[in-house]
Amino acid sequence: MSKSYCFAGWLIDGTGSPVKKDVLICVENGLVSSLEFPGPEELSRLGHGEFSGFTLESYPASTLLPGLIDCHVHLAMSGKRDQKLRLRQLRNEFEQNGPLIHERIEKSLGLGIMAVRDGGDVGGHALRYIRQNAHSRVLVKCAGKGWRAPGRYGRIIGRTPENGSTLAESIKADCAPADHVKILNSGINSLSEFGRETAPQFDRDELGEAFRQARGLGRKIMVHANGRLPVEFAVEAGCDSIEHGFFMGEDNLKKMADRQIFWAPTAFTMKALSADTAAGAEQAKTASMILENQLEQMSRARELGVAIASGTDAGSFGVRHGLALAEELKLMIEAGFSVEETIRSATYAGARLLGLDHELGRLCPGMPANFLVVSGPASDLPGSLADLEAVYRRGEKMTPRACNGRAVHG
Ligand SMILES: [Zn+2]
Repeated sequence: MSKSYCFAGWLIDGTGSPVKKDVLICVENGLVSSLEFPGPEELSRLGHGEFSGFTLESYPASTLLPGLIDCHVHLAMSGKRDQKLRLRQLRNEFEQNGPLIHERIEKSLGLGIMAVRDGGDVGGHALRYIRQNAHSRVLVKCAGKGWRAPGRYGRIIGRTPENGSTLAESIKADCAPADHVKILNSGINSLSEFGRETAPQFDRDELGEAFRQARGLGRKIMVHANGRLPVEFAVEAGCDSIEHGFFMGEDNLKKMADRQIFWAPTAFTMKALSADTAAGAEQAKTASMILENQLEQMSRARELGVAIASGTDAGSFGVRHGLALAEELKLMIEAGFSVEETIRSATYAGARLLGLDHELGRLCPGMPANFLVVSGPASDLPGSLADLEAVYRRGEKMTPRACNGRAVHG
């Protein structure tokens, strides 16, 4: 039986409800047992390392929030900008990638990320790593290798159904089943022609049958889709989340709000490309126009009540593991989300999408005490994620080095 207290100046509980001030959290056996809001008299007795005979950690000038979740990463890939490295890494064997995946996971944890969903890699290395490291300190949900149509986008993260098999049959026959099924249903954004839409990779019937199969096997479905038709097909067939969703349009957003389908807008990918002037000023300009368009869609999604589950696409060009999540969240603020809504997208929403809401996502009595402490008031978030003071996993404070993101490289 262990019991301790933690006091903080502000609390964001992850559900989107308003910031609360002066919170005293009691942790018993790794779980939050109570949240109290002491009055002035009680407050004056806090801050001396002890409360009611139990240890007290006090952070009066800091904010407490649930551990973060990045719903879209590629652990087998680096987010560095070096194109030679990016090409070379695609040929890595698992023996080379395993330690790199480990480093990226540890780096993410040091920045307050407690769970990620991996969107796939061509070798299925992230899935293999997780199977060999079941006690990874970050919870990892994996898609393994994604599915794409022959001749279409997705070679670096996916495979095609076997000759003569349908998508549904291939999912059923998959001998390395993962938590999520990842389906690629469009191309990627064109940097030479703003807003060019690609055709869906799979038709409505194929997707419907594939999703039924995946659900029957207990797996969730994440769909890479940009443009109206590719998103519409995936939404109408009943996916769990739309990944990217650039140029999907208002009708799709309405359907997603109605059906409670999550959206991971991965807006920072375009910001990273817009900063890459080496690729040519025109391409950088197109990327920033795409970003603007995506921020408008996000703003509309907020009005319509679409559930945003933040994902970064870490491992893409210029999208660094761990670091990118705060950048994605800053873009949500730019799109008009409140701090509470923004944090919800990387906590409670992510936990529900990943099926981890028993472990992560909210700070309330009964939940595991998985939380972060960042400097300053709640209104400094998400920028203050760069000033992470402490990470608590199941009530245990991690060592300062492990939670100081600036000291970790990779
Ligand atoms: Zn991706």
